Amino acid sequence: MITKDIVRPSLQELSGRKFDVIVIGGGITGAGVAQDSASRGLSTLLVEKGDFASGTSSKSTKLIHGGLRYLQNFQFGVVLESVRERQVQLKLAPHMVHSLPFVIPAYGKNWFNNRKWELGLWVYDCMAGLSGNRFHKRISRQEVIDLCPGIRQEGLVGGLLYYDCRTDDARHTLEVIKSACEHGCVAVNYARVSSLVRENGRVVGVELIDESPTASGAVARVCGRVVVNATGVWTQKTAELGGGKASVAVSPAKGVHITLAPERLPIKSAMLIPTGADGRFCFAVPWYDSIIVGTTDTPYNGDLDRIATEEEEVEYILAAVNEQFPQARVTSADVTGKFAGLRPLIRDAKAKGTTKVSRKHTLEHSRDGLVTIAGGKLTTYRPMAKETVDLVVKILNRSGRFCGPCITGELMLGGWASDIVRPAFVKALQKRAAALGLGDKTVETLERMYGQRACSLIQMAMSDRSLAEPLVEGHTYIKAQLVYAVESEAALTLEDALSRRIRLAITDSQGARQIAESASQTMARLLGWTEELRKAQVEAFLAGLDC
Ligand code: FAD
Repeated sequence: MITKDIVRPSLQELSGRKFDVIVIGGGITGAGVAQDSASRGLSTLLVEKGDFASGTSSKSTKLIHGGLRYLQNFQFGVVLESVRERQVQLKLAPHMVHSLPFVIPAYGKNWFNNRKWELGLWVYDCMAGLSGNRFHKRISRQEVIDLCPGIRQEGLVGGLLYYDCRTDDARHTLEVIKSACEHGCVAVNYARVSSLVRENGRVVGVELIDESPTASGAVARVCGRVVVNATGVWTQKTAELGGGKASVAVSPAKGVHITLAPERLPIKSAMLIPTGADGRFCFAVPWYDSIIVGTTDTPYNGDLDRIATEEEEVEYILAAVNEQFPQARVTSADVTGKFAGLRPLIRDAKAKGTTKVSRKHTLEHSRDGLVTIAGGKLTTYRPMAKETVDLVVKILNRSGRFCGPCITGELMLGGWASDIVRPAFVKALQKRAAALGLGDKTVETLERMYGQRACSLIQMAMSDRSLAEPLVEGHTYIKAQLVYAVESEAALTLEDALSRRIRLAITDSQGARQIAESASQTMARLLGWTEELRKAQVEAFLAGLDC
């Protein structure tokens, strides 16, 4: 029997119910607000029009970081909040948030005379204070070559090494939603808010449409004492539903990433790669069994629900890689995956170019009562949520025994309890997994993705040994993960399972393509799909891989 981490109710079950707080948007911002709200004791509903994290929150560079580049634009407040939060996230999600060395290569004899980078890193590290993060240092030419084999050596004089953190953005969002659910939040994916319900000019609830693959188009009206708009780049559209006026303007900025196989870019640490004449740089980050490289940063005026990766965007990233690694000669044929996302930047008419726009968030309580939280970063979702729920509590006029203080800084993600010692847990898991013929690498993957909940997957495979079989050749994923995604993590489409619960579609789109058919058969069995729906799912998934 699998424990359901997220129980999705039908819209009929929701219809007519009343919550203290309705949060619209199941990205990291909405997830954080729902977690904070529910854990303070407020009855909370989280609704998402697609899958959880299907918006920007699965398309980031996957860094929990201060944002070194924001120092260039003097965004000290954003950096300070972010480096502090980085340390909190290391504590709360130890399985998922990992500290990682980053190399900044130095070219030309005079590179170290221009102290811009070193000064920036001093400020960066000092802002983190005595929080335990390792201090940056200079490294030799040979050390750079060892960490970044194949790097252009002509003019290379050494480099700088600093530390930041990496996570899995979509799974991180899911973990925060699971934590919200543990505190009583009701979380529903594929429930689009079609209208904001207003009475006497005040927002008092939402109308929902069920857009899940098997939905009959069911609708529901749900009441909320406070409604929070956490819809990222859709912020204005949401505020205007039902005839409202948006008080926050968001300018979407597009960012594209590609993934490469480690054999094609065999870096042993993360690194910064200059992108050429525009003076920007890309990150190259080892992530699962791939290397993520990106990102671009351009204004976007297109369809928010259909963001395609253009050929020239991929070429821009490949050119930067080839300039830095002349022997690599990577081409579009080497690209194993790609994804495009939209940064929800708060509109700033004065900023020259999207790179210069502040990553600060904004919180608004508009005349009609709608609370809007927008902007910010994946890294800062928790302080953003705290600020939002502090406002909600004020609006509800609740305090003391009716509503507790913010406790999200203590809520471990991944099912960890304070008395579990992680290394001992992993050892015990390896022992149990060995009995199923599963190697340490598989256990490492499972622990990294599910934390303490990796136990449940091993348990599933013990009850049904076929679930211990590899999901796809050449990777450490096992079949139990697909079943778990559906049964416990509310995956309702093939894309939910293979793009966000398991990140195969972006690390190895070819591998995802290979198993689309068999995975769809498993999901059809578990979710009661008709043959027609199963085929449509495969078709939609494969089409999405090409975007
Ligand atoms: P979203 O994740 O987009 O969530 C909004 C949700 O609202 C969507 O899922 C959408 O479907 C839903 N929605 C919209 N309308 C409705 C409706 N009517 N009814 C119900 N639901 C609705 N930050 C970092 O900290 N580190 C990084 O490394 C980093 N890299 C980035 C790289 C790129 C290329 C980009 C684009 C962003 C990056 N960011 C990074 C920023 C970070 O990803 C975003 O700030 C964050 O994910 C935004 O989350 P959100 O919840 O506000 O928006």
